[in-house]
Amino acid sequence: MIEKFSFVDRLRLAGEKRLLGSDLRRQMIEVIGFGLAGACVALHLQKAGHHVRVVDDGKKGSSHVAAGLVNPVAGRNFEIGSNLAQSLAVALPFYHQLGNDLFHPAPIKRLWFDEKDRAKFERKRETFEEWIDQIDDQGVTWKGGGWLDCPRFIAAARKEFLDQGGEFSSKRQSEESIWCTGAAGLIRGDFPNLGHRSAKGEILTVRISGWNEKRILVKGGWIIPLGNECYRAGATYQWDHLESGPTMEGRQTIERIIRKFTNLEYEIIDHVAGIRPIIDRSNPSLRYQRGLGWFFNGLGSKGVIYAPATALELLSKISSMI
Ligand SMILES: Cc1cc2nc3c(=O)[nH]c(=O)nc-3n(C[C@H](O)[C@H](O)[C@H](O)COP(=O)(O)OP(=O)(O)OC[C@H]3O[C@@H](n4cnc5c(N)ncnc54)[C@H](O)[C@@H]3O)c2cc1C
Repeated sequence: MIEKFSFVDRLRLAGEKRLLGSDLRRQMIEVIGFGLAGACVALHLQKAGHHVRVVDDGKKGSSHVAAGLVNPVAGRNFEIGSNLAQSLAVALPFYHQLGNDLFHPAPIKRLWFDEKDRAKFERKRETFEEWIDQIDDQGVTWKGGGWLDCPRFIAAARKEFLDQGGEFSSKRQSEESIWCTGAAGLIRGDFPNLGHRSAKGEILTVRISGWNEKRILVKGGWIIPLGNECYRAGATYQWDHLESGPTMEGRQTIERIIRKFTNLEYEIIDHVAGIRPIIDRSNPSLRYQRGLGWFFNGLGSKGVIYAPATALELLSKISSMI
């Protein structure tokens, strides 16, 4: 119980005097980081009537690198995320509200690796039946997927945040904050005693003239049509040397992925790297610690699916404290 009121008390101690008073909802709440997590939290808090200050260091975190893929049934083992339908039911309208061209729905064709792979699909089929659109000799096509233009989402969220009276600051002013600092925060240990298994990833953007593929294709890697003959392909997973940027090895790995989908010539027009913030696979983590505040991290490879719903969950936890 003591801990329950601490977030509010600490905000008060932090000198938010102008915002104190009988209406606690009018307190300034500080969010650190403005990637997918911080942007969703800041906008949800604002919508609930809170005043919000964002402290962002201006470095481009993984939200600026992410391909933004929403793949309902992912991975070699046809894994379906927890609360997938509910999380998407929050996420897609949330993105749409900020701009109707931020999320691009698209069929996702997951190609079979071999007969064993197809047999595995049949064994697990009833767990993901609702996401199946079509099945043929090449693979299964999922419905309900697509991709979010993550950098444009961050830009749109920033504009909305400022339009609604939010403020950005270059330095922290509150004793307790909401920490949405992504992989940088996990590596630095913003919250003590928290293990992480963050993974570096690299992505190529390529131009492939004359291909005309409109679906997202997946087979141990993916390729996403962006329009104008451009495609994004990836991604690598690497758990060591997290900070080293794009590499030749990463590029070669992705070039092999592209070759699974087309033999046409391609031109590389961009090569980026970032770090996925991973704590418990792609299950986001919300924690509270006295003296530090709230922690929202661990979006892993599925930030686009889970960030808006997790931010709402955090809002309800904070509201219950106030
Ligand atoms: C190669 C790659 C491909 C990916 N593809 C996908 C995909 O297809 N689909 C998907 O859903 N997800 C994907 N992801 C994962 C996705 O990027 C993450 O889940 C998500 O972006 C994490 O968001 P975040 O806000 O937690 O972290 P970030 O985006 O890293 O944001 C954290 C922000 O906090 C700032 N910050 C950190 N410390 C401080 C501090 N002390 N003070 C102020 N500011 C600070 C950082 O500069 C940054 O701007 C991919 C990731 C990578 C690397």
